[in-house]
Amino acid sequence: MLLKAPAEPIPIQEISIHHRNIKLFIKREDLIHPQISGNKYWKLFYNINNYLDENPENPYLITFGGAFSNHIAAVSAAGNLSGIPTLGMIRGEELENKWRDNPTLLFAKRNGMNLKFVTREEYRHKEKLTEFLQNGFPEALIIPEGGTNEEAVEGIKMMLNDQTKDFDYLCTAVGTGGTVAGIAKFCEDNQKVIGFKVVDDASLENKILELTSGRNFNLIDSYFGGYGKIKDENIRFINDFKVKYGIPLEPVYTGKMMQKVFELIDEDYFPENSRILCFHTGGLQGIEGANLLLEKQNRNLII
Ligand SMILES: *Cc1c(COP(=O)(O)O)cnc(C)c1O
Repeated sequence: MLLKAPAEPIPIQEISIHHRNIKLFIKREDLIHPQISGNKYWKLFYNINNYLDENPENPYLITFGGAFSNHIAAVSAAGNLSGIPTLGMIRGEELENKWRDNPTLLFAKRNGMNLKFVTREEYRHKEKLTEFLQNGFPEALIIPEGGTNEEAVEGIKMMLNDQTKDFDYLCTAVGTGGTVAGIAKFCEDNQKVIGFKVVDDASLENKILELTSGRNFNLIDSYFGGYGKIKDENIRFINDFKVKYGIPLEPVYTGKMMQKVFELIDEDYFPENSRILCFHTGGLQGIEGANLLLEKQNRNLII
C-alpha cells in the first residue's frame, strides 16, 4: 500500500477569537505529508491503493490540471514515491516553453511527471481526451481533474474521526466538490457542513449531490475576484493570520475560506456558542507561484 493512514492523529488547533463565545478550530490536513498535501492525499488514497492492489502489470497514472494545480503536484509526488510513471495533461499550450518558470510544473517534472500541454479548447473536452488516453493506455489509472470521483469521496472519510464529531459546523473550501461531498456524506447527522466556493460554477451543487446523498451542506460564495485571482485584502488577511496564529494559508482555497469564515462570524451568521471546525486542505505549494506573479505586478507578497 502506497498511501497510509497517519500514525498520529492530525492536530486540531484553536484559533482564538472573542465573539459571542464562538469557538473556532482548524484541522491541519496540510501536515499529513510533506509533498502530497491536505485533501489531495485523501482523495488519492483509495484511487491509488485500490489500483495497485489490482496489480496492473504496467502501472501508469494519468491526470489533468492547470498550471498551479495542487492535484498535479500531489499526483507527481505520489508517482515519484512509488516508482509509478505519471502523465499530466496541463491546460494551456503556451506553457510548453515556459514550464521551468512555474514552480508547480517544475516540481512535477522533477518528480518525473511527463507533462503534455493542451489547448483550453481541448482541455474543456476532457471526456474525449480521457477516452482517447484510456484506449492508448488501457492499464493506466486516469484520475479526473482535482482528483474528484467516488473513491476520492470515500477517502475524505479519513478526515473525520471522534474529535471532529464535537463540532457544530464543518467548513472546507470547494473546487471540484469532492471534499465537501465526502464531509457531508460521512459527518454526523447533527453537523452542518459549509462549502466555501472558490470557483464560480453554477453546476457545482448538482455535482456534489451526485457524490453524496444528503442535502446537509450549504455552499457559500467565496470567490474574492474569481478562481485563482488574488485580492490585496486577501493577501493582508493571509499574512495577518500567519503572524497572529502561526498558521500558513494559501491564496486559492484556504485563505479565501478563512477570510470568509471571519466575515461570517462578524456578521453573526453563526449562533452564540457555536463550535466551528475548518479543514486546512493544504495547497501551500501554490504560494511560491502566486508570489512570482505578485512580484511581477509589484504587489505585496505572501509571507
Ligand atoms: C483541491 C483543493 C481544494 C478543493 O477540493 P475539491 O475536492 O476539489 O472541492 C481545497 N483546498 C485545497 C488546498 C485544494 O488543493
